[in-house]
Amino acid sequence: MPKLAGTDGRKMSKSYGNAIYLKDSPEEIRKKIMPMKTDTKRQRRTDPGEPADCPVFTLHQAFVPQEKRDEIVEGCRTAGIGCRDCKAVVLEYLLKALAPIQERRAGFEKNPGLIWDILEEGNGRARAAARATMAIVREALGF
Ligand code: SF4
Repeated sequence: MPKLAGTDGRKMSKSYGNAIYLKDSPEEIRKKIMPMKTDTKRQRRTDPGEPADCPVFTLHQAFVPQEKRDEIVEGCRTAGIGCRDCKAVVLEYLLKALAPIQERRAGFEKNPGLIWDILEEGNGRARAAARATMAIVREALGF
């Protein structure tokens, strides 16, 4: 997984205010992606660019399938694709990837008790594992 750039091209960080959150709605994510900085060589739609110099492309690397990504690289380097279209592609795949996570999150939001149930079950399993380990240790030490 490559390091994701924030929406301003710097390291993605809450303190920079440039992060995309798992809880962001599709519209919020769209508003963050569409104005993102791109390769500065692409001043005009007809200027070729270099995906390696573009923060948007780090999102492509994380979310867009290789075949589609190859098209983007070619389109960027030949100015065959505009940055707007390129961002629309990454947005589509990013939203697709986040949808099941957000759906799950919404389920927990509606029923927070579920989280406590999961924690309780995890605690139970951890206690059982600790008891079993301690039994082995006691036996080994002859207690
Ligand atoms: S086409 Fe895509 S990869 Fe190339 S500079 Fe624009 S946003 Fe970045």
